[in-house]
Parts: sequence; C-alpha cells; structure tokens
Amino acid sequence: MAEYDLFVIGGGSGGVACARRAASYGAKVGLAENSRMGGTCVIRGCVPKKLMHYGAHFNEMFKAAKSYGWMGQAPELDFEKLLTARNKEIARLNGIYISMLQKAGVTIHAGTAEIAKGREGAHAIVVDGERHIAKHVVIAVGAKPAFPDVPGIEHAVTSDHILEDIYALPNKLVVVGAGYIGVELASIFNGLGVETTLVLRGDLPLRGFDGELRNKLTVELENHGLQIRPKTEIRLIEKAGDQIKLQTNVGPIECDKVVYATGRKPIPNTKNIGLEELGVRVNGDGAIYVNTHYESNVDGIIAVGDCSDHAGHGLDSGHHDLTPVAIAEGRAVAERLFNNNTISVAYDTIPTAVFGMPQVGSVGLDEDQARSLSYDVEIYKTDFKPMLHTLTNMDRRIFMKLVVDKSTSEVIGCHLVGDEAAEIIQGFAVAMTAGALKSHFDDTVALHPSAAEEFVTMYQPATQM
Ligand code: NDP
Repeated sequence: MAEYDLFVIGGGSGGVACARRAASYGAKVGLAENSRMGGTCVIRGCVPKKLMHYGAHFNEMFKAAKSYGWMGQAPELDFEKLLTARNKEIARLNGIYISMLQKAGVTIHAGTAEIAKGREGAHAIVVDGERHIAKHVVIAVGAKPAFPDVPGIEHAVTSDHILEDIYALPNKLVVVGAGYIGVELASIFNGLGVETTLVLRGDLPLRGFDGELRNKLTVELENHGLQIRPKTEIRLIEKAGDQIKLQTNVGPIECDKVVYATGRKPIPNTKNIGLEELGVRVNGDGAIYVNTHYESNVDGIIAVGDCSDHAGHGLDSGHHDLTPVAIAEGRAVAERLFNNNTISVAYDTIPTAVFGMPQVGSVGLDEDQARSLSYDVEIYKTDFKPMLHTLTNMDRRIFMKLVVDKSTSEVIGCHLVGDEAAEIIQGFAVAMTAGALKSHFDDTVALHPSAAEEFVTMYQPATQM
C-alpha cells in the first residue's frame, strides 16, 4: 500500500498532464492505466488518424504532380507498410509517455482502478487488489465509441477497430455518422483509394460548425470522390459471408465494412470504478459533473477531459472532447492543488480542426451562434481556387469566413475549409484569444503568396444573406 497526495485514474492526455505537473511541484503521485499509456489520442485517435491522413493525402499529391511535370505512374499503396510504420510510431510515443511519467517521479500502476471509501479526508484506490490511499483523486478515464441501437449492429466496427486492428483495406466502406470521426475516417479511406460512402441522418456533415462552412465542405468532400448519403437512416445491418447489406429508409447500401462514428460516451469507462457507491453525480452518458475547479460533488474527487461534464456549473455547456482541452484541464487541477495557482482554460477560443480532405479549421462563434446570441454580426468571407490547383484541372476551392461583432469590431469567429486549415487556424486562435479587432486583421501585412493571407485581406463585409 502506498499513500499519495494525488492518484490519477487514466493515462491519457488529461491524466498524464495532471500527474506530471503535480509531481513537478513535489506531490507524491500515483497513476493507474489499464491499457497502453497515452490514451485515445496516442493509441487510437489523433496520432494514428493524422498519420493515416498524411498517408492518404499522397494520393491527391500524386494526381496533382503531373501538372507540375512529374510524369510516370503514381506509386501503389502498400497498406501494410503504412500500418507498420504507424504502429511503430505509436509504440515509440507509448514508451515516451511511460518514461516521462517515470522521470517526473510518478508511480505507474498497470491495472484497473476502483475508488473506495477511505479514511476521513482521503480516498482508497484499489488497483487489481492492491489498496492505496490518496487525498485527491483525478478521474481522467476518457470515453469510448458508442453504438446506437440498430439491429445487426454487431456487424459494424468503431474507430477503435479501424485505428488499432485493421490489417487490410476494405473494397467498399460505409462510414455512419458525419461528425469529426466520420468525416476524418471517410476522407482517409477515400484518399487511400477505397470506395467510401459517408452516411448521415441529417442534411450536412459536422453539426455544430458554421452552416455555410458545412455546405462548402460537402461540395469539397464530393469533389474529392467521397460519396455522401444525407438523410439516410440505417434500419438493419445484415451480413452474408464477407458482404454487408445496410437496409435504410432510402434503399439498401452494400459494402464489406461498416464503421459507426456516431459519438463517444464516458460509459463504460466510468462504470464500475466506484463512483455510484461514493455518490459521485454523473450525467446519462456517465460523464462526471464538475464545477469550475473540475471538482465533482464529492470532496477530493475531480474529473478532467472527455469523462467530465461542465453543464449546470456555469463553466460551459457540456464539454469539448479534445486532447488539448483535457491537457489544459489536467494541468489546471495540478496548478491549483499543488502550486496555489488558479488557471482558467480559455474555452471561448479553443481552435479545432477536422482532418478531412479537405480540412476544416474553426475557432470562436459561427455565424448562427453569433446571431442567436444577439451579436450585431458582420460577416467577411471569400471562396477561391488555391494556388496549387491553378495548374491542375482538379476542382478544389478554399472557403474562409470571419464573424465580427460590429458593435466592438472584435473578431469573434474564424472558419475555413481547405488544405492546411489546421495549421492556419492555430495562429488566428492566438489573435482571437488576445481579443483581436477586425482593424488588427486589416492592419496586418499579408504573407504572399499564401492562402492564409486572405484572412487579412477581406476588407469588405459580405452583403447580407
Ligand atoms: P460527433 O459527436 O462529432 O459526431 C457524431 C455523428 O454521429 C454526428 O454526425 C451525428 O449526427 C451522428 N449520430 C449520432 N447518433 C446517431 C445515430 N443514432 N444514428 C446515426 N447517426 C448518429 O462524434 P464523433 O464520434 O465523430 O467524435 C467524438 C468526439 O471526439 C468529437 O465530438 C470530438 O470532440 C472528438 N474528436 C476530435 C477530433 C479532432 O479534434 N480532430 C477527431 C476525432 C474526434 P447528428 O449531427 O445528426 O447528431
């Protein structure tokens, strides 16, 4: 048995960040992880996804290359080689996470942790039968892909399977759900040469993003060869041999693999870890309600990242399930507990990117959000052919949009669809965090020739739509 100042449950982005920061202030820290260290981001999320996104992007580049004088056959994809290289990198990062924790002095417990009632002012944590004591417990167990209740759903797989366990390319892939993961996976496999269909129950992908941006994205995804089936609901999934038939409200769709990307939930990760017994309040998906200090309703039990819910505590409605958010929250907890430093995470200007083909980048309010919050909205936007494609015959566009609060001239939203959106939007998030006004954008000298320069050369507001 060990006695800790802090025990972290979950070795993903939030948990590791919290543990390391706490240990750097001299706290005695234990951390339990029941899988590979690194969590969703490293093992079955951001990292494998981005590497595969790069891998898939070559296809587009090989096509464009001919227009730049690179002649001859495009190379063929050796998918196994891509997976081997990808997995090697994940193993390397997994090792780095372990050694970073060890170097920081964090004690790692490999196993599943459960919180139990401990002595007054402390909690007991049991990891595979071994009992420990900690004053503070940070729960950072993340979330898991959730399947809806559809007959035959056992024939479908999740992004976990696609990013961890797939060994050969399917011939025909159907991706159900057009949020972050759906758009990203569909784009990757389409880029890798697989006949891919994105099935969504609504009109447009990426609910929650700017409406106009979603329209432009849809056109661009289709220009990249992705088949999109809006307003399509799957009623039954049937499997015969290697073939899968999806019965939908608009007729059958056939494929040999179907991936569901219909959202993620903290359950089952937050189930059976002792929360109920302790009286920790959770929402219907199993996310732990926390206040502005990430504290649950039970003293000493804290939650960060995807397994937490800020609604009802005035911090934010719901949660942004993003790696850097979990990291920021984990660090904020460690700072408060062990460095007497209260940090506020800048939730209003969290930049986000969807690594589709093309990419989407977004920070701040979209036009509809701004209008519904009664801002006096002024919109600036542009839609143009990227310079790369002035020499190719490929139908590719970039779309950019600024949402400005006319009464203060503050830029409150910045959105784009196009290559390198993720790289572009990060810098504009800095400007927005600093409270940049439209005049600051106008006064910034353009970097020419680039796509990003368009953000500082949109002088005239768009005419009212
Ligand atoms: P999202 O919530 O982003 O999207 C879920 C999608 O599934 C939506 O299109 C939704 O449709 C659809 N859907 C939900 N339920 C059903 C159903 N019963 N039947 C059919 N369709 C359904 O979830 P994801 O799984 O894509 O991603 C989870 C979270 O992970 C994201 O919110 C994001 O925070 C994070 N993430 C971030 C990434 C990044 O930063 N690049 C990458 C990947 C994940 P509708 O719109 O109609 O509700």
